[in-house]
Amino acid sequence: MAEDTISAIVTAPGEAGVGIVRVSGPLAQNVGEALFCSASGRKLAELPSHYASYGKVVNPVDGAMVDEVLLLVMRAPHSYTREDVVEIQCHGSHVSLRRILALTLSCGARLAEPGEFTKRAFLNGRLDLTQAEAVMDVIRAKTEASLRLAVRHLEGGLAAAIRAERERLLALIAHIEALLDYPEEEIEEVSARQAAEGAALSAVALQRLLDTADQGKVLREGLATVILGKPNVGKSSLLNALVRTQRAIVTDVPGTTRDVIEEYVNLRGVPLRIIDTAGIRETEDIVEKLGVERSRQMLEEADLVLVLLDTSRPLSTEDKEVLTLLGAQKSLVLLNKSDLPPLWGEEEIRTLAPQQQVLRISLAAASGLKELEEAIVQQVYCGAASQGEGLLAVNVRQEALLQQAVRHLQEVGVAAAAGMPLDCLSIDLRAAWTLLGEITGDTVGEDMITEIFSRFCIGK
Ligand code: GDP
Repeated sequence: MAEDTISAIVTAPGEAGVGIVRVSGPLAQNVGEALFCSASGRKLAELPSHYASYGKVVNPVDGAMVDEVLLLVMRAPHSYTREDVVEIQCHGSHVSLRRILALTLSCGARLAEPGEFTKRAFLNGRLDLTQAEAVMDVIRAKTEASLRLAVRHLEGGLAAAIRAERERLLALIAHIEALLDYPEEEIEEVSARQAAEGAALSAVALQRLLDTADQGKVLREGLATVILGKPNVGKSSLLNALVRTQRAIVTDVPGTTRDVIEEYVNLRGVPLRIIDTAGIRETEDIVEKLGVERSRQMLEEADLVLVLLDTSRPLSTEDKEVLTLLGAQKSLVLLNKSDLPPLWGEEEIRTLAPQQQVLRISLAAASGLKELEEAIVQQVYCGAASQGEGLLAVNVRQEALLQQAVRHLQEVGVAAAAGMPLDCLSIDLRAAWTLLGEITGDTVGEDMITEIFSRFCIGK
């Protein structure tokens, strides 16, 4: 348990009806006692845990009232951090929140670092690392599907799957170690085979989790989508159609060199993050203005490319160039303006973009849009039967650890086949077991913990 007491404003900045200051640690109740006057006249120590008490916060120095509040005491271990926690709900103005925060600091708390409440929840065993990471995903979830995924992780779904594999490996390791003390060649051979079989089963299970990494990335960060096409082909019409039919989520992303406005479109639960919306909105010709080189860069950043072509005008050299850039990239070729008499057809582009799915649409007549949505969702889930249901998509950190673990498990098979001694097999089994422990946080180092929680926001 930590020895110091931390405090932070845990609600979002800006004007709001209510704001919350949270204090956690051994001094939390003393801090609350020093600042809070309950309307009932009861002392904080007499207040029941997990019940809201009405009263006011006063400055202990001069007794001046600061704000009218509700106070919650959550006594250890039944709190988010498993420590004593006091939460003060005051009016959600910046001034009120800052003053109450400052008072908690003057009473012995210190300002919490980003993610420190959740870090304590992890260190005190309330959450494993996958759950702690899921807390952040829940906060950042952009669509219902992203939220469902994060909540599944929060419930410990991924950790359970990983722990099952760790147990399987541990049993194999224990078996081998027991044998090492009593070497007998025949038994060793049987055991090596068993170890290889067990490792292979684990590798398959872990690979299944790895296969979900791409979907996880999309649900967490949005599907980076680029709309490409020459002027007047219908780029802004397409963007508007996507935004109109869906709930558009516009977010500022600070911290980048220029403040990019990213537009999120919620497409049947898939967050599409449309890149370079500004360029499209100004109806500038992305291909012409920025040149093929820039288009190529944008394509590299993209998870999905929507290429717009106009069948009522001849296919131009630029159109052809863009099509040849696509290669194996996830993309859809959209033949727009299908309401007008066509000058050419699908077969014209087959040689240029043989792998691409082609759809005929008319943005003016709003036809083909359902099929377009369907095609985009299909691209994300790659035809997976259930769209994200029960999915335990791993994040980038988890993906890297899983890949290493799978490699070690494959080594076990190779070593067993080559007739290597049992202790060699055991080394790789142990390595995989440790790597899996880093996913759940069972064997994770201090550096990694600091790194993970530093990505959190203050107050979480
Ligand atoms: P952008 O320059 O690529 O962004 O193209 P816009 O979306 O601004 O569209 C250019 C023009 O084409 C506008 O006048 C649109 O109304 C028109 N347009 C877009 N889609 C269609 C379509 O499917 N059929 C017809 N007939 N006109 C369209």
